[in-house]
Amino acid sequence: MQLIELKNVHKRYSNGVMALCDVSLGISKGEFVFVIGASGSGKSTLIKLLYRQEKPTKGDVYVGGVNVARLRNRKVYKLRRKLGIVFQDYKLLPKMNVYENVAFALDVYGLKSSEIRKRTLKAIEQVGLKDKLRSYPDQLSGGEQQRVSIARAIVNNPKVLICDEPTGNLDPDTSMEIMKVIESINEDMGTTVIMATHDKDIVNKLKKRVIVVDKGMIARDSMKGKYKNEGV
Ligand code: ADP
Repeated sequence: MQLIELKNVHKRYSNGVMALCDVSLGISKGEFVFVIGASGSGKSTLIKLLYRQEKPTKGDVYVGGVNVARLRNRKVYKLRRKLGIVFQDYKLLPKMNVYENVAFALDVYGLKSSEIRKRTLKAIEQVGLKDKLRSYPDQLSGGEQQRVSIARAIVNNPKVLICDEPTGNLDPDTSMEIMKVIESINEDMGTTVIMATHDKDIVNKLKKRVIVVDKGMIARDSMKGKYKNEGV
């Protein structure tokens, strides 16, 4: 079994919208996958199923062998430990500095304080923000804030890094820098990356697997894919 598997997944929201229709796909450990498609095509829904923000109406969603669709609510925290999630709008805590924002996300159960510090600093170093440890979010640029949110997402060494439009609020140069950070996490740590994006330049430059979602269905799935004009 692959690290992530969707089997005949359907998602119908309570207002009747069919967001996903019979989606099946597999993602192996260590892969880097872009999910692209027009606004409203179902990208976010697909991603939300992986971290159990939403449940499928029909079908199964496996993450690390666990059927997330059937997971009990009180076990969801166990799933989330295996995942790191990065959002377009960073979601940092404004009253905490960089170090605290990252340390706060660390699963500290059974960890010594020296180990907490080591792991937090390692994650911050990986995103290139070691000289900003004591800065608060409002003292950082958008790119720097996104780096903090990536450090927070990887501090527990997740198997999978899920990114929903991570460069949506950033200019092209900063976006490319953020992509280098995410690519290095994929290459150096072997973390599987799944990223929903609208950004053509990024998709074309990175030459990774591309899954195109169109009206809730997989319209294309290609290795080293390019962003074609598929109604996007
Ligand atoms: P994308 O991320 O590609 O923009 P979404 O997955 O957000 O697409 O949305 C797919 C479809 O599902 C859209 O028609 C959207 O309006 C609808 N949708 C998304 N979230 C909800 C929700 N919570 N309730 C009802 N409809 C929703």
